[in-house]
Amino acid sequence: MRLLIVEDEAKFATYLSRGLSEHGYIADVAGNGEDGLEMARSSDFDLIILDVMLPQRDGFSVLESLRNSGKSTPVIFLTARDSVEDRVRGLEMGADDYLVKPFAFSELLARIRTIIRRSNTLHDRMLRFADIEVDPETHRAFRSGKRLDLTLKEFLLLVLFLRHPGEVLTRSTIAEQVWDMAYDCGTNMVEVHVRRLRSKLDDPFDRNLIRTVRGAGYVLED
Ligand code: CA
Repeated sequence: MRLLIVEDEAKFATYLSRGLSEHGYIADVAGNGEDGLEMARSSDFDLIILDVMLPQRDGFSVLESLRNSGKSTPVIFLTARDSVEDRVRGLEMGADDYLVKPFAFSELLARIRTIIRRSNTLHDRMLRFADIEVDPETHRAFRSGKRLDLTLKEFLLLVLFLRHPGEVLTRSTIAEQVWDMAYDCGTNMVEVHVRRLRSKLDDPFDRNLIRTVRGAGYVLED
């Protein structure tokens, strides 16, 4: 387990990283928001402990940029005061939990364990293919770590492809599974939605993953 501590109070950061390593975690420390964001983006941490009040870039801004870059690493916010506004803002921006300073170290450990357990479950439910990653529960889709902005139907279509990689899906299978209706040859509903999905999933990237099989349908292939 590798954790990142983003905290500018050096003494406190050392105290945290020592405590965590005594409990079997490897902890890296960043002393300001800019370094923290850079480290969080370039490596895969299991969890980030993120102070709100930081020089150069505050914790909110670090979290926002991190989530915008498609990184879903769990984050625990550290706030200096018990401000409801800060807490709500942090959680809305995608923090997983928060702790108000000062807190007991055992409290931090308990939160870390809970979040890591939760994120392992999350890891299991993710659908993956090549560099596509989809969370069917939260309706979030990523390719190469970039969040894809999909409509509900496009999302359902992508999930269908991910559940049947390498399998040719006919237009009638797609119509049944995504629209829950029989395929009507008179409409081009399926074609239109596949095209829209491709424009977001394939067009911006080097490799196309959805391929047309003439006269048959579509297949997700690398
Ligand atoms: Ca601080």
